[in-house]
Amino acid sequence: MKPKVMVSPGVRDDNPGLLEEKLSDIAEVVYGTFRDPKNIPSDIKDSEAMILALEPINDEVLDNFPKLKIIARYGVGYDTVDVNACTKRGIYVTHTPGILSHAVAELTIGLMLCLSRALIEADRYVRTEWAGPKGSRLKMGIDLYGKTLGIIGLGRIGYEVAVRARSFGMKIIYYDVERKYEAEKTLGAQYVDLETLLRESDFVSIHVPLTPQTRRLIGEKELRMMKPTAYLINTSRGAVVDEEALCRALKEGWIAGAGLDVFVKEPLPLDSPLIGMRNVVLSPHIGTYTVETRRSMALMCIENVRAALMGMVPPNLVPEQRGMVFKRGAFS
Ligand code: NAD
Repeated sequence: MKPKVMVSPGVRDDNPGLLEEKLSDIAEVVYGTFRDPKNIPSDIKDSEAMILALEPINDEVLDNFPKLKIIARYGVGYDTVDVNACTKRGIYVTHTPGILSHAVAELTIGLMLCLSRALIEADRYVRTEWAGPKGSRLKMGIDLYGKTLGIIGLGRIGYEVAVRARSFGMKIIYYDVERKYEAEKTLGAQYVDLETLLRESDFVSIHVPLTPQTRRLIGEKELRMMKPTAYLINTSRGAVVDEEALCRALKEGWIAGAGLDVFVKEPLPLDSPLIGMRNVVLSPHIGTYTVETRRSMALMCIENVRAALMGMVPPNLVPEQRGMVFKRGAFS
């Protein structure tokens, strides 16, 4: 009997046929998902590997999967996975760093352009008002050229955003827990503390992982430090921002607007105050949602799963597990 690999249905929908093509020589691919640990489908409980979207992994969930050797996160952020719980059980956790950075950076720049040139409003204006009798005026945009972009978290994605913003003639400042001396040289980026970044930036873009330290990193105090003309872009994780404080900031004009790909609760509930706001641009967590990037992500997950099922250390372990070797290989 081949080992079972549970795959989130979304991964299959992004990549029809790919999982079977690349895995079926050594494994049986089964599609399934779960939100509630008490309602896990019985046909996936004997899985030895998982390729996961955003299903939560904790001790209670893991109790249902006694044969599991690897969780391959289909994405770079792994805040939904309790890595310690996996490590204790000898389960590898992998993710897909690097290969998706340009896609998220492109979306980030897209959100900035939507805000700076009021593109969503402009589209609506052409469809409804431009040729109409009233001749009302569209809100005038602002240049990105010459503006200051403050990047919170100059890691893989933050760096790619900075590269693109430089080509628009923006000045880059950044805040991170680590100084990035190489990036400072190549990008001419200046390291500042968080308060300076918030006070000086025309655009603030968030690229930190969601951790206990970054949860609600941007709250009321931080939003009030921003310029009333500034825009906040978040393509990292919703919970890095205090969403209630952000709604007040947008409503009361502490900041000019926001571009958001991620939310505290996803899908964003239709009764969220954000839904009715004209100074926000919203996208449904599509940072990596391109044909090329989703394929690369799936291939990276497959490579990690194949390695683990064949008793080898998977190549893309999360940082907490780097250097670890577990003995639950294919032949254990
Ligand atoms: P990365 O690890 O390369 O970069 C993160 C940076 O944040 C690092 O430089 C790190 O030093 C810094 N950092 C960590 N904790 C910090 C703190 N407390 N304060 C300040 N800086 C801190 O990660 P990445 O590959 O650039 O991905 C960043 C995040 O983007 C992911 O964790 C994920 O949550 C999010 N993401 C979202 C999408 C999407 O679809 N919207 C797609 C991919 C990734």
